[in-house]
Formats: sequence, C-alpha cells, structure tokens
Amino acid sequence: MTHTDVPSAGPCVLAVDVGGTTMKGVVVGEEGRIRHSVVVSSPAEADTSPVEALRGLCRQLNSDALALGAVPAGIGVVTPGIVDEAAGVVRYASNIRFRDVPLRTLIRDDLGLPVAVGHDVRAAGVAEAVSGAARGLDNFLMLPLGTGIAATVVLNGEPVAGADWSAGEVGHMPVHPGGELCACGQRGCLEVYASAGGLARRYIRLGGTPGLDSRAIAEATCTDPLARSVWDTATHALGTALATLTLTLDPACIVLGGGLAEAGAQLFDQVRATLQSALAWRAAPALLPSAFGARAAQVGAAILARRAAGLAVPEGWGAQNQGSEVPRSG
Ligand SMILES: [Zn+2]
Repeated sequence: MTHTDVPSAGPCVLAVDVGGTTMKGVVVGEEGRIRHSVVVSSPAEADTSPVEALRGLCRQLNSDALALGAVPAGIGVVTPGIVDEAAGVVRYASNIRFRDVPLRTLIRDDLGLPVAVGHDVRAAGVAEAVSGAARGLDNFLMLPLGTGIAATVVLNGEPVAGADWSAGEVGHMPVHPGGELCACGQRGCLEVYASAGGLARRYIRLGGTPGLDSRAIAEATCTDPLARSVWDTATHALGTALATLTLTLDPACIVLGGGLAEAGAQLFDQVRATLQSALAWRAAPALLPSAFGARAAQVGAAILARRAAGLAVPEGWGAQNQGSEVPRSG
C-alpha cells in the first residue's frame, strides 16, 4: 500500500517502523510532514528473509523519494527487541526474527546514507518529547499498551537504554506475585493482565465470548460481567505498576499509547483512580494519551534520521502527523 502527498523543498528523511505484522516506511519532508508512505507485510515464517524484505523496503523508499524530487539526507529504522543503538545492531527481536543483524552497516552500504537504528518504543518516546504529549518535558514515561507493554523512560531529556539495552521492559514487572503464567516464563507479569493482547487472551481463557479483541471487551463491560472483571483487573494492574514507576522515577507525566489507550476515558479514568489511591503522600503525575498514536515510532525514527544526518530537529517538528492515519491508496 502506498500514499503520496506533494513533496516539499529541502532534504527529506526516510523512516521505517518494523513490526511483527507490517513494516511501515515513510518519506518525511524538511518541514516534518509525512509525504509518502509504504506499508508492506512482514514476511511470514519460512518465507523471504525479514532482513532482505526490510532492505528492499528501504531501497524502495529511497527511489520513491528521488522520483518525487526529494533528496534523502538520512534514514532511521526502528524495531522491537534488544537494539544496540550505539553499534546499530538489532541483537534479538523474536517477533520479527532478527538476531545480531548489523542493520546500520547493511543499510548504509545499500543506500549510502547516514543510518540511525533505534528501538521502536524509545523512538516513540522521542517523538512525544519533541512534538507530542510530553513536549518540552525532560522527565516522563511513555507506555504503548499493545501486543505487550514496554516503556520509554526519559530522564533529563534522554531515553534510558540501560546497561545492556534492555531498560523499559515493564511489561514483565510482577504485579501479582505467583500469578498467571506469562510467555516470558515468569508469573504475574503486568502484560498478562493489562496489554491489549494479554487482556483479550485472558478473557478467552476465562471462558469469554470467542473472537472479542480488547476494544470489543471494553465495549462489552456494561453487559458482560467477565468483560467487566477482566477490564477492571487490567486497569488496576496498570495503575499499580504506574504507582511503582512514579515512586521510582518521579515523572512529570505518563503517556499511554497503543490499542488499549484507544478506549479513552474508560481506561484513563480507572487507571488514574488506582494510581492516585496507591499514592498517599504525593500527587500522581498527569496521565495523557499519546499524541501520535500508531505513528509515534515512525515520527521518532524520522527524528533519529535527521539527527544522524546532522540536521536540526526544532521543537514541534513532525507535529503535523498527529491524529488520524494518513489516507492510503494503491
Ligand atoms: Zn513476563
């Protein structure tokens, strides 16, 4: 699928958000607007190599940009998993089948451009900090609540990577010691109860109506007692985990994104209430929805690309891409 807008003057950047089901590539103009987008399916098991599919997408984006009359200055590629941003290597990402992939070298050799390799959730946090919900804040958390849960921890203006590029795996924070088994091997992990995927799996496991996703479960809470119970458990687990994070890090705000955050006030009001009631002696930080939604990682990748190319990233850059999805055609 592709979508094209009128190209702008000045150098553009290329950005790719690699996920388990799709790879989303965009060309972003000098002024920060997404000018062209290409979405391809991530190759299925035993199909094309996922690394080759990604390299193909990057080459296509580069030639698409040139055909539009825009000259790429750099490219940013973000993935889930353990990403060594300093070396430009994706160490391990199970759901996209990457292991020790030297992405920066591969893509630089293919395109001859400066390449930034980043972690998708940390990149999403960068986008929210530069021009989104956490604009101008030096200390905040962002948690996309999707298939799983991870967090960007931004301290003193920088996303924290950790000693071994594994910071922010809060989805595996125990919220019910000895609780239900997580795919990671631990018990009682936050994402078993409170990720969009975990909530839906839990609802089915406890005997709920087959085929309901997290959004449908949220809508069914008024009429379906199991949906109500699973939903309340999720918001309580999340509020409890956020209390721990608040006490540890003292963030100015907490940004929630991903599929579950689309429930809006139904999620935010309950999580806020749990968070506030867990904190006796201090106020809870503001709980805000992601400004970029599903596009946060793409915009973050574009910001990383500009930085890799030595281009300035003024505050507010990329804010044009907030809100609804770019309409696609072709
Ligand atoms: Zn776990």
